[in-house]
Amino acid sequence: MKYREIIDRYMQLQGFVALQLHAVLFDMDGVLFDSMPFHAQAWSKVMTDAGFKFSEEDVYMNEGRTGADTINTASLAQFGKPATQELIDTLCKAKCEIFDTYPTTPRMRGALELVKKVKDSGLTPMIVTGSGTPTLLGRIQENFPALFNENHIVTSFNVKRGKPYPDPYLLALEKGGFAPNEAIVIENAPLGVTAGVAAGLLTIAANTGPLNPDVLYNAGANMVFPSVEAIAADWDNLLAALKG
Ligand code: MG
Repeated sequence: MKYREIIDRYMQLQGFVALQLHAVLFDMDGVLFDSMPFHAQAWSKVMTDAGFKFSEEDVYMNEGRTGADTINTASLAQFGKPATQELIDTLCKAKCEIFDTYPTTPRMRGALELVKKVKDSGLTPMIVTGSGTPTLLGRIQENFPALFNENHIVTSFNVKRGKPYPDPYLLALEKGGFAPNEAIVIENAPLGVTAGVAAGLLTIAANTGPLNPDVLYNAGANMVFPSVEAIAADWDNLLAALKG
């Protein structure tokens, strides 16, 4: 992958003279934690039990949305009406309860290494997630000790409109005091990629799930890696290109 060409093309499109990288905005599920198989099982079961058609692949295609938006989008598409707040609350609670019966979610392979490399490069790592799963949010510090400042984490509790809207990424820029040419995004989900791109950020995808990589390119990803480990392994070259 010719990093520099990709970066130049991105800058040209955005009208930026230079990238001045200060921050890396990490999505959480499917990037920092290998949690998507569990989310997929839990969401698919809860939605199916409630009368929706919702396969595990549907979960991956909706990944990044808040729980409420996931349910609402399915309700509008399948029943032609928005979901009631009561249904949203019931299903979100049921999903979290099922999720909590699963084994402890492991860190994504290569994630700790990558976040450490980012920090050692003098950059600020931040988290931008559509998640509202307290279990996982509570495990960030234990799994990534002293790497993420509490004020540098955006969750579904902080925004009205989650991914694919750019709002979570724009809020992260605001919280960190960064401009769009000062940060990049690392995402695994098509809607997360859409959100990063809509915020005007260079967006790198790690295809850690079952989707075809073309889905991520079509969502607008500037680069697609096969794993988080692959980004970590080539971080030095990528950083050199990002610094121009
Ligand atoms: Mg994700």
